[in-house]
Amino acid sequence: MAGPDDKGRPVSRRTVLGGGLAAALAWTTAACGGGKAGQSEAKSGVTTAQPRTTGTPSRSPAKPPVDPASVKANELGLVPVLMYHRITPTVTGEYDRSPEDFRAELQRIFAEGYRPVRTIDLVRGQLDVPAGTTPVVLSFDDGYPDQFRYTPDGKIDPTCGIGILFDVARQFPDCRPVASMNINKSPFGLSDSAKVKAGLTDLDKRGIEVANHTYGHDNLSKLDPESIQKDFVLLQRLVHDAVPGAAVRTMALPFGVWSKDRGLTHTGSYDGESYTNEGILLVGANPSPSPFSAKFDPLQIPRIRSTSYGNGKIPMTTTYWLDYLKANPGQRYISAGNPGKVTFPKALAATLAPALAGKANPY
Ligand SMILES: [Zn+2]
Repeated sequence: MAGPDDKGRPVSRRTVLGGGLAAALAWTTAACGGGKAGQSEAKSGVTTAQPRTTGTPSRSPAKPPVDPASVKANELGLVPVLMYHRITPTVTGEYDRSPEDFRAELQRIFAEGYRPVRTIDLVRGQLDVPAGTTPVVLSFDDGYPDQFRYTPDGKIDPTCGIGILFDVARQFPDCRPVASMNINKSPFGLSDSAKVKAGLTDLDKRGIEVANHTYGHDNLSKLDPESIQKDFVLLQRLVHDAVPGAAVRTMALPFGVWSKDRGLTHTGSYDGESYTNEGILLVGANPSPSPFSAKFDPLQIPRIRSTSYGNGKIPMTTTYWLDYLKANPGQRYISAGNPGKVTFPKALAATLAPALAGKANPY
């Protein structure tokens, strides 16, 4: 299948966040154009299709808010978005993670108080994780079978990525085992349309996001505008055909490479069908700002590579950043467990996205 992503781009654009935090509200983003001629302001606007949450295991019933100081709440802190490719015992490159290391990494992040959310949850600021914990996005690119496959008797293979996630999460009762799968054509090596339908429906029912990594995993900088839009629409159509009503609302750039017209990565249409990517995932190489931070741009979300190559000690990969955030806990996003408000220490007030001032809950 397609090769790994390897070209993260620096963040250079500014985005103004608007909208609210409640589930019914969508973010309004501006300036997808990157300042180039012909790139108009792109707005995600009011969302018309919500990702389905049917079957998503809900957390425990709502509890009264805790004293934010007691958990050192900081909802303006950093959120790691981890990027996985192959989960394979044969590690030959930077994009390979061994099943043993993947399991150990999940054990570590859950034990250190991270709780999974999906890309769309980050983009919409719907970070429903328990007080005192940090959201983390587990994103998988390219739809490799070792990320998601079945045993001959029809169970999710406990040695694939999703199987390992489910197994480790069982040890942490408040941990919802969700992820975002950024797929291309022929996802997970499923051999025919019936198997694709069954597999993607299963993921959707479990609350796992199926997202757009383009149909052909093409280098978007080399495609004409129509081909770019076709690439997004064909993948979206594949998902809709498999899971009627499912929403495809976020994407990961193949190879981390932008199209010349960046607006087409956000929204476009082909053959009478339109698409809107509310969130765009980059490749490198640092934690994401909080979605409530003035620095957050949903159309340029940085990710952190997870690798077993070089014993996992390649700079700026997961081990590096998990160690960094452990050493600098004040920089982590820490939930107050109070959805609808943005809770943070007063000293950080200047870093709040100005449009969210009405939701501010400084302490
Ligand atoms: Zn890829």
